[in-house]
Amino acid sequence: MKDLQAEIQEQYQALGISEPVRRLGEEVLAELAPRFARIDEIAEYNQLKVLGAMRKNRVSESHLTGTTGYGYNDDGRDTLERVYADTFHTEDALVRAQITCGTHALNLALSSNLRPGDELLSPVGKPYDTLEEVIGIRPSAGSLAEYGVTYRQVDLLPGGGFDYPAIAAALNPKTRLVTIQRSKGYASRPTLSVEQIGELIAFVKERRPDVICMVDNCYGEFVQTREPSDVGADMIVGSLIKNPGGGLAPAGGYICGRSDCIEQAARRLTSPGLGREVGASLGMNPSFYQGFFLAPTVTAGAEKGAIFAASLYERLGFSVHPAAATPRYDIIQAINLNSPEWLKAFCKGIQMAAPVDSFVTPEPWAMPGYDDEVIMAAGAFVQGSSIELSADGPLRPPYTVFFQGGITWYHAKYGILMSLQKLVDAGLEL
Ligand SMILES: *Cc1c(COP(=O)(O)O)cnc(C)c1O
Repeated sequence: MKDLQAEIQEQYQALGISEPVRRLGEEVLAELAPRFARIDEIAEYNQLKVLGAMRKNRVSESHLTGTTGYGYNDDGRDTLERVYADTFHTEDALVRAQITCGTHALNLALSSNLRPGDELLSPVGKPYDTLEEVIGIRPSAGSLAEYGVTYRQVDLLPGGGFDYPAIAAALNPKTRLVTIQRSKGYASRPTLSVEQIGELIAFVKERRPDVICMVDNCYGEFVQTREPSDVGADMIVGSLIKNPGGGLAPAGGYICGRSDCIEQAARRLTSPGLGREVGASLGMNPSFYQGFFLAPTVTAGAEKGAIFAASLYERLGFSVHPAAATPRYDIIQAINLNSPEWLKAFCKGIQMAAPVDSFVTPEPWAMPGYDDEVIMAAGAFVQGSSIELSADGPLRPPYTVFFQGGITWYHAKYGILMSLQKLVDAGLEL
């Protein structure tokens, strides 16, 4: 019988990975074993957390059916919201197919909890690109600015720390809501740990206990054992086609938090008077439940992929962010590829490794909501899902690719090797 490792090697070769690229990958991986073991421990903890919430809420087969039309008495939907609330230790949750994406969930949380004359403060610098139009940082029809909500921003210090004196000065009687983005998104600042977020919230609450602290939790769920809601956040907000959907949710978003904040959001999502009572689950309950059940292990696989990519590319001399050895608080890995050609080659490799649309070549395009042209590689079961293996980057120097996802670690590994293979094919020397 042939050695299994030899057979795997043959498989990689048959799937387009040259032996030098594969060997380099194995060398890098050999050093990552202790970190991967730690990630597995966190996944184990979080798996028990989710299971505990499902048991406590007596999830049953009947919850996996759904409603149509108005969606009154959708017990599966309502119980799922209890499962989210109990997992994230919040009073309440809104988890809906009608929340179309992360931006929508954030817009909903903000627009429902702010009133004309209120001020929104971001103490962590410029928020995610798509929120610029939500807030009205870039003028946009329907923005919060149009409704008389003002915005103030305090940038992070050059080292990534909070500028506490400036934050204290920015808090004023109009400040109603503080928005804290956990993940770096497309920015080059560090991602915040849950502990750091807790310190920032404590600082704000000490001065203004009445201010709502909201955390954009996108890409952060289940990376640590605690969530921002465990350290004082009044609302945490995210997308179901990222971590908590576990790769199975076909759409959707969530807001978990204080019941009064969630009630506002529900009334804004549907209508005053109707609130959370309507909103058919349209057959999505099984994938929402099963995706949430899988989310801790799926997130762990994606995180391993991020660390592997960082370690591999750092070793080749690329500037990677976060650096390979630093602790990690989300599943995004940024790699500065320094040229548009290499950015395209990297994305081509990720695309070629995909289970769906492996044969297409990604091209840059002007994506709605983003400033610069963006190139995206994603051969996903769910359109645009970034818990699935995907890479994207705006076409601006230093041509940073943001790499994330991988429903299984083995797929992430193959995709990263393929990205490197395409760079090698384009002239990179190992
Ligand atoms: C993805 C993301 C969003 C927006 O989510 P979409 O689902 O793409 O609309 C907002 N904030 C952060 C930090 C994100 O990563």
